[in-house]
Amino acid sequence: MKESDLLNIAQQYGNPLYVYDSEKIISQYNRLTNAFSAVKNLKLNYAAKALSNITILRLMNSLGSGLDTVSIQEVKLGLLAGFKPESIIFTPNGVSLEEIEEASALGVRINIDNLSILEQFGSKHPDVPVCIRINPHVMAGGNSNISVGHIDSKFGISIHQIPHLLRIVDLTKMNINGIHMHTGSDILDIDVFLYASEILFETAKNFKNLDFIDFGSGFKVPYKDGDIETNVEELGNKLSTRFNDFCKDYGKALTLAFEPGKFLVSEAGYFLAKVNVVKQTTSTVFASVDSGFNHLIRPMLYGANHSIKNISNPEGRERYYSVVGYICETDTFASNKRINEISEGDILCFRNAGAYCFTMASNYNSRFRPAEVLWHKGEAILIREQETFDDLIRNQVDVKNLFTSKEKVKVK
Ligand SMILES: *Cc1c(COP(=O)(O)O)cnc(C)c1O
Repeated sequence: MKESDLLNIAQQYGNPLYVYDSEKIISQYNRLTNAFSAVKNLKLNYAAKALSNITILRLMNSLGSGLDTVSIQEVKLGLLAGFKPESIIFTPNGVSLEEIEEASALGVRINIDNLSILEQFGSKHPDVPVCIRINPHVMAGGNSNISVGHIDSKFGISIHQIPHLLRIVDLTKMNINGIHMHTGSDILDIDVFLYASEILFETAKNFKNLDFIDFGSGFKVPYKDGDIETNVEELGNKLSTRFNDFCKDYGKALTLAFEPGKFLVSEAGYFLAKVNVVKQTTSTVFASVDSGFNHLIRPMLYGANHSIKNISNPEGRERYYSVVGYICETDTFASNKRINEISEGDILCFRNAGAYCFTMASNYNSRFRPAEVLWHKGEAILIREQETFDDLIRNQVDVKNLFTSKEKVKVK
């Protein structure tokens, strides 16, 4: 979508504001599907936690996507958005047996990532098919903060525990219908990913009633010019061939599943914030926007590099800025960033704001979470209203008669 469209939308709906481009989401979905066209049964389960607005979920459902969920609330959101229970997979970690049972009772597929819950669930519900999350101990990601396949990771059942896993399955007579891995949030190296896949195939041979193998996600998308991105076409080529060979040996056309979050929605999102103050100090020029890590925490949490453009002055000469928020904390979005010359009142546009941006927003500093708009077929559609003061106090219990104005706290 064009910068002028974004500027118009900011004028119409105010700021700060999230805008999502449906066309980009659809093209990313199609790109991944096409990359695996050689596989007979492909299923993409969109990872809801990346961007969980119900209208976005409806868009995914309309594309034929399934849904990957990590909490019972995401399961319920998916059902509300019209997903059939069997199109939803519940892939939590560290949640209670009760929560897994609740999801299972709703008819969604269950993915279990530890032996303790597997044993308990299998003993109580031997007839419910279960997928198991394996940790192949392969680090496919570049950033150790977000690579989850390594030996210290809390995610998944270690590949070294397969003998114990098989014992549990055997003793409980439970039915394993899927094998899953999610090795990290950034697949840099396709060969590393394929190596992890071999471990998954090897594991899969232990189970006779599989329906699917789920390769998780971690597709890398570019955040700035020159960034590496996962070559999904090359991965599709290599993994499809290997998968089809495996299915031939296995004797059944299994489903190949992925759970992309970032890949589908990251680049479709734009975050628009207005510059309140341009502040020249002795060491830099700060541009303070009407936002902070309450709305977009990835730069502070992961050091994520979101490109920033001044869409109010796209042709202006570039200068160096430190872009900061208005939160009473260090909330630096970017330092030493070259941005078209900024005046107070200009709208800055943060790219890659589709994944893990709104869903990580909070009310810190008692600020409202922003509105969300979907840009669909040339039309700006409001898909979430900005919060109001009522939202902030909705669940607070204002105990008015607990303290009298005359009460003094006695300190002994
Ligand atoms: C978060 C998550 C995903 C999505 O990861 P992306 O990097 O956003 O594609 C997939 N699977 C599981 C189990 C997850 O927790």
